[in-house]
Amino acid sequence: MPENERELIRFGTVGSPQTTPTSGTPAAIEHSRILGLDHLEIAWVRSVSASEKTCAEIRAAAETYRISLSVHAPYFINLNSQTADLMAKSDERLLKAARTGFLAGARDIVFHPGSYHEQPEEQVYERIKQKLLEIRGILDEEGVEVILRPETTGKTAMFGSLDELLQLSKEIPGVLPCIDWAHLHARQGDGSFNSYAEFADALKKVQTALGDAGLKRLHCHLSGIEYTSKGEQRHLPLNQADIQYRELLQALIDLGAEGVIATEAPEPFHVADCLTIQATYRHILSGGEISRDL
Ligand SMILES: [Zn+2]
Repeated sequence: MPENERELIRFGTVGSPQTTPTSGTPAAIEHSRILGLDHLEIAWVRSVSASEKTCAEIRAAAETYRISLSVHAPYFINLNSQTADLMAKSDERLLKAARTGFLAGARDIVFHPGSYHEQPEEQVYERIKQKLLEIRGILDEEGVEVILRPETTGKTAMFGSLDELLQLSKEIPGVLPCIDWAHLHARQGDGSFNSYAEFADALKKVQTALGDAGLKRLHCHLSGIEYTSKGEQRHLPLNQADIQYRELLQALIDLGAEGVIATEAPEPFHVADCLTIQATYRHILSGGEISRDL
């Protein structure tokens, strides 16, 4: 539970908070608690190399400091890989992230699902669904109890609209979306998907597809973002971005959403943006108004 019992959303950074005084995930966990955060998304985004001993240390630190954990799996995962060799490597990366993350005490494994490679969307959906069923089957057999969280993507060339991920989540037990709100905004390429009504509609879609349980197990990413008509360019600090995060937080509170919001802002705003989002959430939760014309 977060420190404040009324709070239903846990906040944290993707990757160690940059102010962590020493390297290593256990230190990042301890530092997250000092900052008043409740979650850490371990960024194993290049490769997964933690030993069993390190995993035990991460798990112990998370229990001591009451920090929930997720893992961001390597970027080089593509469930629609185009050769057998690439596909096998991609499978291995996701399996390894899930197995190692589970050992370290993480319960949610976030990954970028894949590319369309300009193929028809329905065909890619079927392939990715089959791949996820296969990987889910292997993990279930091994007793690796993690939720696989394909992330909403910021470019239309990439598989990962909210509709696609909700459909996968409906069809495959043990799969739920990681909703990157900045990506959904950037994916439009025209500045839309950035209002209270649009955020609330998306949350209602989650509720319709996955029930109240889905709305109460949200795993989100939130940060500022730069985009063109083709979608995402890069993450931005909140003070340089147009994302209406106050409106989003209000919608999450109004619809009774629960779960995790992890922030990935560029340095030196990484921790600052995470704390700003958390503080804004607390402000709204305690009855504070949000200014709608900022
Ligand atoms: Zn990501």
